[in-house]
Amino acid sequence: MHPALAGDLSRLPELLQDACDFAAGELTGLAERPVAATGRAPGRAPLPAEGAGAEAALTRFAERWAPGFSGSAGPRYLGFVTGGATPASVAGDWLTSALDQNLSGAGGSWAGELERETVDWLRDLFGLGDAHGGAFVTGATMSNTVGLAIAREWIGERLGVDVSRQGAAALGPVDVYSGSPHSSITKAMSVLGIGRDRLRPVPLLPGGREAVDVGALEAALAGRDGRPAIVVANAGTVNTVDFDDLRAIAALKERYGFWLHVDAAFGAFAALSPEHAALVDGLDAADSVCVDLHKWLNVPYDAAVQFTRRPDLQVAVFHNASPYLGLPTGEPDFLHLTPENSRRLRALPAWFSLVAYGRAGHREIVERNVALARRLGAGIDALPGLRLLAPVRLNVVCFTLAGDPSQERVDALARAVAASGEAYVTPTVYGGVPGLRAAFSNWRTTQADTDRVLEALAAAAG
Ligand SMILES: *Cc1c(COP(=O)(O)O)cnc(C)c1O
Repeated sequence: MHPALAGDLSRLPELLQDACDFAAGELTGLAERPVAATGRAPGRAPLPAEGAGAEAALTRFAERWAPGFSGSAGPRYLGFVTGGATPASVAGDWLTSALDQNLSGAGGSWAGELERETVDWLRDLFGLGDAHGGAFVTGATMSNTVGLAIAREWIGERLGVDVSRQGAAALGPVDVYSGSPHSSITKAMSVLGIGRDRLRPVPLLPGGREAVDVGALEAALAGRDGRPAIVVANAGTVNTVDFDDLRAIAALKERYGFWLHVDAAFGAFAALSPEHAALVDGLDAADSVCVDLHKWLNVPYDAAVQFTRRPDLQVAVFHNASPYLGLPTGEPDFLHLTPENSRRLRALPAWFSLVAYGRAGHREIVERNVALARRLGAGIDALPGLRLLAPVRLNVVCFTLAGDPSQERVDALARAVAASGEAYVTPTVYGGVPGLRAAFSNWRTTQADTDRVLEALAAAAG
């Protein structure tokens, strides 16, 4: 054994303790460190010829790189939709690495059953029925990609084409209807050989809404003469957290042949709050559902779950054929369900957080985040220099400078907020107007944090 490895093996408990102490120090200071790194990263060093051991690696990381990491796990990072990591989920994540299970198949371990238990719990949490099977993937983009891959296979079933063998081209054009799809939907369409240009935008409801006009969707489907299609419904758009009427869309399935995929990346968490659960009414009727976990469940990157009512088609797409593995029946191993073969025990952080805080603890995070978004929205509304671009529907505040702001002025505002170290918000364009979004999805955020964000915005807006 290389001496550096042998040395580390003999001191393994101390090394883990050092890393733990370092992490604890970083997390203790998290709420007060600058929310975004603004300086320049160090130059890239050459590959070390001789190893220096884990202790030296920790020291070098702490000196060279850690100071430039963002406070994105902290309470005032409101860019994109960025969750933090609950204490229990961090512990679960560490154990995922330490125990290093390969979840491709059973492989002499109970870990796969733990993932199945966790998927069952998540299905319950979001109000989905037993007909939905699921698996962990790396994020909502991959969850959407898996959902649309199963949808593509379903179109093949309808048209008598075995897509998994004959390829997407054998299907001819596949149309995807959606109102305000996330950018990852067209990315998935590109990956799957459907093509980005096959997105068929559906008109939205009037009044600046981001939800589809279900009448217009029905008219589009009626014009297809029975040719099967894919509909992507959106349960929580990133700008204004608008929701398509899932129940009304699902009801159209009685008359028109389509696969209903719901991108509920963070909107699914509305199900945890009785006040907002009606927003995801009808979610269970979807053929496939995407939910991100590294956002509002507050587990570390990278984790999401995908659900579908057609695990048989999922296996048709993803089965890993091999001379000693027939087509699986019953509960297939995960390597037959997901793009990866070898995969980490991504479920363990979620399992830890659900055991530690339960439905009630996670409901509290969601409800507090929503209340704080409303608070920031009301604060922005009262400032002369800023105005809301849309009502605060759930956990995102979409706003801009007063008057008719240029992209340059909005970008400058975002930079000034980041440079203050106090808060982080990210740009968007809503209804043709450049603006900013503040998304609440971190378990640590308090009312005091929200008031600091408002002060930072007010100062930067002048
Ligand atoms: C964040 C998000 C995605 C993509 O999620 P990743 O985890 O970044 O892959 C897809 N859809 C919606 C609605 C999202 O909010």
